[in-house]
Amino acid sequence: MTATLIDGKAVAESVKDKVKEGVMYLKSEYNVTPGLATVLVGERPDSRAYVASKQKACADLGMNSYGHTLPADIAQGDLLEIVQGLARDSNVHGILVQLPLPGHLDAEAILGAIPIEKDVDGFSPLNVGRLSMKNREPLFVPCTPLGCLYLIESVGTKIEGARAVVLGRSNIVGLPMAFLLLHRNATITICHSRTQDLPDVVRQADIIVAAIGKARFVQASWVKPGATVIDVGINEIPDATKKSGKRLVGDVDFDAVKEVAGAITPVPGGVGPMTIAMLMQNTLTAAQRAAGLVR
Ligand code: NDP
Repeated sequence: MTATLIDGKAVAESVKDKVKEGVMYLKSEYNVTPGLATVLVGERPDSRAYVASKQKACADLGMNSYGHTLPADIAQGDLLEIVQGLARDSNVHGILVQLPLPGHLDAEAILGAIPIEKDVDGFSPLNVGRLSMKNREPLFVPCTPLGCLYLIESVGTKIEGARAVVLGRSNIVGLPMAFLLLHRNATITICHSRTQDLPDVVRQADIIVAAIGKARFVQASWVKPGATVIDVGINEIPDATKKSGKRLVGDVDFDAVKEVAGAITPVPGGVGPMTIAMLMQNTLTAAQRAAGLVR
């Protein structure tokens, strides 16, 4: 292996340690306990698992979590009322609506009901709008791309002036990732399912962020030697050697790409742990802001 392995677990632990200190300080000096409300609609096992791990992280770091588990057929108006109630509740500093919502619900309207100062996922239209503009500061940046940025910086990769290729243009990963890198003066190319000559485009990149949801899609021959490769993808593939009969891989052909890249994140253990760490950091920031300690 020639690439430096970017240890997302270790970086996430150091972020969480700092968050824990911040929570203790807020409690002891201001009698404020940061609180995160989670809203889970329906029975998707992956969504349940994500929400459970976010609640566990809150408990580990001394924060309160307020779980709302709602039936898949909840009416738009009823869900809206719950979110509006959380918006008014002063014990709740952050509101997280687990996506995707069932198809009959209008996710944009629901996310729009989260006040910008409690939008710890960074998905509300106001925060997204600010992130996409020059010289505007969102109150919160979406957790997964923010975590990717930390990982890129953790190995000292120079972002300013670098060519960065982001694979995927979703609202939760690809687009905010591209804006974060752009605001740090990288030159950005965003690729998607209709990009022509994808391998040639990727070959230009000093920084590659792959967020498409296709197992081991990015090939070693597409990667410029020395590039920093961040693999956001989470894909299940069959594996007869595992008790479960399956295992997780990313969007990058890790075994081959690690021989070419300068630094690379593994899956699991790369971006995944950072997403939750960033959510905890955003929730602490929300509580600090409510207490008038940060802008
Ligand atoms: P989406 O399905 O919302 O978006 C996928 C994107 O990939 C789309 O923009 C799509 O293009 C693009 N795409 C699909 N096929 C190709 C292709 N052949 N070539 C180039 N681009 C392609 O996914 P998400 O952004 O929500 O998630 C992406 C991956 O990241 C998933 O595996 C997900 O599980 C994982 N993830 C991991 C997180 C973590 O914490 N580690 C958090 C969030 C997501 P188009 O727009 O044209 O359709």
